[in-house]
Amino acid sequence: MPPVNGAFEWIRLPWGPALRCVPLAAIADHFFTGRQPVLLREGIRPGDGWHRVALSMGVAPRAVVRLQQVHGSGVVVISAGDVLPADWGTGDIVVTDDERVAPCVQVADCVPILMADRRSGAVAAAHAGWRGAASGVAGTAVAALVSAFGADPADVTVAIGPSIGPCCYRVGADVCRVFAADERWSSRIDRWLTAEPKGRAAHGVPGSDPSARDGMPGRFLDTWAANADQLQDAGIPPAHVHVSAICTSCHRDMFHSYRVDGAEAGRMIGVIRSGAKREAPAASPPRPSPGSPVRPRGY
Ligand SMILES: [Zn+2]
Repeated sequence: MPPVNGAFEWIRLPWGPALRCVPLAAIADHFFTGRQPVLLREGIRPGDGWHRVALSMGVAPRAVVRLQQVHGSGVVVISAGDVLPADWGTGDIVVTDDERVAPCVQVADCVPILMADRRSGAVAAAHAGWRGAASGVAGTAVAALVSAFGADPADVTVAIGPSIGPCCYRVGADVCRVFAADERWSSRIDRWLTAEPKGRAAHGVPGSDPSARDGMPGRFLDTWAANADQLQDAGIPPAHVHVSAICTSCHRDMFHSYRVDGAEAGRMIGVIRSGAKREAPAASPPRPSPGSPVRPRGY
């Protein structure tokens, strides 16, 4: 398992390890998966990975909220007491204060973002690939928590899960142009898009040289910095934004990577559940958290 910084820990679940953000866990149950469990693209079958995720989160299998993700910034709001639909619909952000459901986002290189408001207990799950980062999906998720559940961004804690890092994420001029066209990012774009990779040496991604595709130099995109900056712009205190900084491309043994595996890449999730840990008078005893911490055994 890759080493983690102090804000994260590996936990043991029935299928193996998952990653948890310690400060976020104090507010809401959640985890980020790796290659296990195997998660089907469509549907749910008895005993499959989705069943196991639901069991670990303490919800019914159909209550793991899976949107049809489209690399946009559409929001689905689920309020406590809503009639739960058979089809969760399309979007890249789920916000809810409903303890019956566990919103998730499915990723393979894209950034899974989970957040929770310590006062209302409301949570959000957001899917932020480069298009999501370019459109400001992280800020949109915070705004949805504010508008739907009255959250104060100062009370929100955020975890940014494993995803392709600035060590490996080379993008072409087409991507750079999308960021450059949005004046909101003009003061930050040099931090997000750099000529050289950041951090540890990349293992290299076969067949991906964007410069060959469009005739212009590629850049390395730091989606972790982009999302963290956007969350702070949305009012989240910097100390409440926790970046796992684990690159899915560098750790292919542990994670799926779309850039490496292509369209056949499996999917991982970040999943979260509103509820028992909110700062409100306790109406019921706290429920047990999924998993127990394990110590990494090197990698
Ligand atoms: Zn990497």
